Amino acid sequence: MKRLIYLDNAATTKTAPEVVEAMLPYFTERFGNPSSVYSFAAGNKEVVSEQRDAIAEVLGAKSNEIYFTAGGSESDNWALKAAAEAYGEKGNHIITTKIEHHAILHTAEYLEKRGFEVTYLEVDEDGKVKPEDVKRAIRPTTILISVMFANNEIGTIQPIREIGEIAHEHGILFHTDAVQAFGQVPIHVEEYHIDMLSASGHKLNGPKGIGFLYIRKGVKIRSFVHGGAQERKRRAGTENVPGIVGLGTAVKRAAATMKERAQKEISLRDELIERVLEEIPYCRLNGHRTDRLPNNANFSFRFVEGESLLIMLDGKGICGSSGSACTSGSLDPSHVLLAIGLPHEIAHGSLRLTLSEETTKEDIDYVVEALKEIIGKLRAMSPLYEDFVKKG
Ligand SMILES: *Cc1c(COP(=O)(O)O)cnc(C)c1O
Repeated sequence: MKRLIYLDNAATTKTAPEVVEAMLPYFTERFGNPSSVYSFAAGNKEVVSEQRDAIAEVLGAKSNEIYFTAGGSESDNWALKAAAEAYGEKGNHIITTKIEHHAILHTAEYLEKRGFEVTYLEVDEDGKVKPEDVKRAIRPTTILISVMFANNEIGTIQPIREIGEIAHEHGILFHTDAVQAFGQVPIHVEEYHIDMLSASGHKLNGPKGIGFLYIRKGVKIRSFVHGGAQERKRRAGTENVPGIVGLGTAVKRAAATMKERAQKEISLRDELIERVLEEIPYCRLNGHRTDRLPNNANFSFRFVEGESLLIMLDGKGICGSSGSACTSGSLDPSHVLLAIGLPHEIAHGSLRLTLSEETTKEDIDYVVEALKEIIGKLRAMSPLYEDFVKKG
């Protein structure tokens, strides 16, 4: 079989075998609807609550503050739209950042069309939001601050605790899109002053199409899906029992293995970063050098076109990404790379490699050698590179 080196774990992860195993009975012999009264199905209600308890415990939250959703995008939509609706009387101003995932950015744009005012905060060259900027953006009408925990493209981890403190000092709701961070770095909703938090199963070795929104008790937030009484009447629809079991199992597993996994990934990630920066000329690392997700490396190579690089890497069995999965296919460079100040031509030559617990040192060696060869070939074909070399 051809070698496959999957380094696109920010796009999605492999569902862990024990997660699949835990889910299987809920498709077959335990298919009952948790709302049914007979004992055969009632067991499923317990199972759903056990998963809620387990997730709440990992976050330092209460079980009844966890609402299951169909994933990160739904959680982000819910947090913003429902907070806007519930607090719209108090004000119409929302603060977020220029580097959010599109699930936040496009929802914010939708709210702007409906009369809300949105401040999109700038980030510094490492992709960090400055807490002072958050403070400065606050108006008497600010009802919500939404800042992602860690960025999906460049991996930068934000000063969430400081931002949460500022939000709470001003009595403003604080939401964080923790889809990339949850399961990779420790998160505690009390310590970080978080009122709402989005997470997704498939980014942490769980299944796709399941996630949750943490909503702190007391936050006035409207129902997102109207219908039955599921999720304490806030998100109707028969529970995705196999998905919820998969998510709960994945969250427990991620929490139990986090420390060891992070150490291993950081060491391989740093080896990848150091070797690429040393052995390949005219390249840079995007994102903060140390305050970054354990598994994320993001580079820009001058005189190289990201899409060509991806295709040639694919030829060697290496899966990477040139931006977020949603932006590939469009010719615009990533909004995140532009926000950290990269010129278009440099942003175009970018590559994101995101490791998993299965990544080995041999994989890293193979990838570095492949990159050296491919970038050499691409530059040899580039008229811009030729000019550059001629001019010395
Ligand atoms: C993947 C991702 C999402 C969307 O999650 P889905 O479960 O795929 O809908 C939202 N935010 C961030 C930061 C992500 O990485």
